[in-house]
Amino acid sequence: MELFITNTLTKKLEKFEPLDRSNIKIYACGPTVYSRPHIGNMRSAVTFDILFRTLRYLYKNVTYVRNITDIDDKIIIAAKERGIPIKSLTEEATRYYHSDLTKLNCLKPTYEPQATAYIDKMINMIHTMISKDYAYIAKNNVLFSTRKISDYGILSNRNLDDMMAGARIETEEYKSDPMDFILWKPAKLGELEYAFHSPWGFGRPGWHIECSAISTSLLGRRFDIHCGGEDLIFPHHENEIAQNCATYHTPCAKYWIHNGLLTVNNEKMSKSLNNFKAIDEILGDVFASNALRYFYLTKHYRKPIDLNNKSLYDAKLALQKFSHNIHKFELQNQHATIMEENKEYMDEIMQIICDDLNTPEALGYLHKLSNDVSQKNSRNSAIKLMLGMKFLGLSINERNNDNLQYDIKQIPANITLLGQQRAIAKDKKDWLLADSIRNEIIALGYQIIDTKEGFIIKKQ
Ligand SMILES: [Zn+2]
Repeated sequence: MELFITNTLTKKLEKFEPLDRSNIKIYACGPTVYSRPHIGNMRSAVTFDILFRTLRYLYKNVTYVRNITDIDDKIIIAAKERGIPIKSLTEEATRYYHSDLTKLNCLKPTYEPQATAYIDKMINMIHTMISKDYAYIAKNNVLFSTRKISDYGILSNRNLDDMMAGARIETEEYKSDPMDFILWKPAKLGELEYAFHSPWGFGRPGWHIECSAISTSLLGRRFDIHCGGEDLIFPHHENEIAQNCATYHTPCAKYWIHNGLLTVNNEKMSKSLNNFKAIDEILGDVFASNALRYFYLTKHYRKPIDLNNKSLYDAKLALQKFSHNIHKFELQNQHATIMEENKEYMDEIMQIICDDLNTPEALGYLHKLSNDVSQKNSRNSAIKLMLGMKFLGLSINERNNDNLQYDIKQIPANITLLGQQRAIAKDKKDWLLADSIRNEIIALGYQIIDTKEGFIIKKQ
């Protein structure tokens, strides 16, 4: 079976031809760890988890690197605001990120390097760029000369003059050209906690050089796929290509894959609009994390996606229906045996996924199978349904939870919200608040039951 993916570099749907079939190498830009991830960040994680699963299905070895940016202006500002050491902040945010990835059933990447462990590699790359005259030193900063790269803008499909015309750029006077970007910046007073020695003084790297240094250190100068959210195409990925071309004369990845962004109730996620939902606000009840994963898959990864209460509700119902139909044939624990003996059951879903990771069509296919089970009692369809869910990383509900459609329909949004607030209070070990919310739920005529996967609300 062959995989086809849309390559941002060529703007075309292309057949995936690995550089080395014995080891597929992919790199994804990970989070900057300064706060709890929000639901927009996690769309990338789930999208590239599907890509990782697909490549692992097709090839023997896949090396997946996803970095953690643990040094950045945002981190320094957030640590100062909270009055805590930078390391405590980055460790806390990393823990949150990992816990959310686990809830969303994302596989662990092969390597998850922290930027601060690769400062030497970054310094080496910057040193090479200076020696080749692609970079210059100005007022203790090291800057990249974008004009030295003739096809700068190749990924985002723009040229330097268009960028200049289209943007109001506040130019620091030390830059030779307004589009030049930082490779290394000096530490300011009060920022010495996380500054590093370099040939250009005490300071820290720019964001773009982090990914270039980490990806090439772990995957080599040329690797198969580089991925990230579409908001990273410019300037982050454009600058990565420029740095790699300057240092190694090759633009690192053969294929570039980008996912579309997420809106909430048709509004862009933003802190000022106050819809900057942390994943914790959603992932309270027992079905929610699975439903959120399902929701991410309902739109093609390159298109925008909008989250609203109805979309999560529909996802929960679909997953309950699927689970119920799998339980009819007691298939939930037979995944390994069936995969061993009847791999061809996976052919149809893989055909769909190999067409540019078409997850909405894959979910449509699962619905068709589920209807076959409901209407014709087809065991084969139930097997394919179970394998398809497993492949997409969707969990099959516990048997005793698979018949709660009625309950979900009966739970008003304000009660579910109380349940979620109680889960957050429990997470923070605020038992007093958790108990008072439970009492409020009971007083409103509902009961809340804790399970090891989360909570369930029922009408009393
Ligand atoms: Zn990156």
